[in-house]
Amino acid sequence: MMIDELHHFLYLPGMQTPKDVTLLLLLVLTCFCLCFSASYGDTLPATDSAAEAAPIEIHEHDHDEEESEQAAAGQQERKGPPTVGTFLLSNKFLAFYILAVIAVVLLFKGWISKPVRIGMMVVAFVLFGMEMIFPLHPSPMCATTKLFMFRFTHGAFFPQFLALFGLMIVFSLVARKLFCGWICPLGAIQELVHKIPGVKKFKFFNFTAFNTVRMAFLVLFVLTFFAVVDQVGALAERLGEDSSAGLWAAYSAYSVYAPVNMFELLHWQIDTWFVVMAIVLVGASLVLYRPFCYAICPIGAISWLLERITPGRVRVDHNACTDCGDCSEKSPCPTIGKIVDGKSVVPDCTLCGECIPVCPEKAISFGYKSRG
Ligand code: SF4
Ligand code: SF4
Repeated sequence: MMIDELHHFLYLPGMQTPKDVTLLLLLVLTCFCLCFSASYGDTLPATDSAAEAAPIEIHEHDHDEEESEQAAAGQQERKGPPTVGTFLLSNKFLAFYILAVIAVVLLFKGWISKPVRIGMMVVAFVLFGMEMIFPLHPSPMCATTKLFMFRFTHGAFFPQFLALFGLMIVFSLVARKLFCGWICPLGAIQELVHKIPGVKKFKFFNFTAFNTVRMAFLVLFVLTFFAVVDQVGALAERLGEDSSAGLWAAYSAYSVYAPVNMFELLHWQIDTWFVVMAIVLVGASLVLYRPFCYAICPIGAISWLLERITPGRVRVDHNACTDCGDCSEKSPCPTIGKIVDGKSVVPDCTLCGECIPVCPEKAISFGYKSRG
């Protein structure tokens, strides 16, 4: 009886059955409980530049400062510098794994609905995009760009960036855009904004144009390390800093991603630039599905390339499909119609799973094997 009343009280538009409400509640509660407790004593260093890329921070203590510094130094000495494994086993990464497992289970079971999706996006955004529970750093953008900047300015890959970049690649290989679709906070906020009703959505925009811009960003970024080395060196000298820090500043100045890095918004430093970027992102997301992912993000570009070889994906049973077009009409993305049509180049599938329940013939599912 109480459960029924709870269901009645919590019904939201789009929820079809009490199962939807139960699922949503369970998902949100599980994620918050697991990840909140996991966040205690998080040891990820919140570095954002070469200069700050100091070894790992140790827990804060209530004791007096000097004592705690000594303890930290001793602990640091025993632990040694952080490695990729240090980060892969940190609490923030544990939260990534939890969300990824939940996502795969939901997709396999087909337990996807708009409220479930909204719940999961809110969880991802609050956990990773508000700097309250886990630090944003490194963002997917930083994990990609700074990984290579470290290599070219300091001569080695920094483990924190390597860990996140590697994890995003592995997740994208396990299931199409698993990281983008279920974990990335910027992806989540764009999708949440896109779900706001009452604004006309432009689903069938020119994906090739968007993708060309995205690929051009990626190519130009890579070329920075080879085509403008002399200019970067000259700028570093003019800056007059020691070689690594000067090179870092010079590469940062030359990075094509620097002026369009919307992840900067998630540092919540509210100034004029923040307001301009926020208006652009919210405005674009209201009418387009994940515009930043489709047009700019390097991880969006790389994971789109990986989509071709990833076996875990949304699949269509062409024997069951009656070509009614319901999936295309009711899904938020421009992708499912192209998948149904068997096109070889399709816009990004973020693996949201929303096309699965809308097919009246149950011809769409998530899986690892072709369905005919
Ligand atoms: S494409 Fe980039 S911004 Fe979009 S979800 Fe993936 S990592 Fe996040
Ligand atoms: S095809 Fe579209 S609706 Fe279906 S899972 Fe991919 S992004 Fe979501």
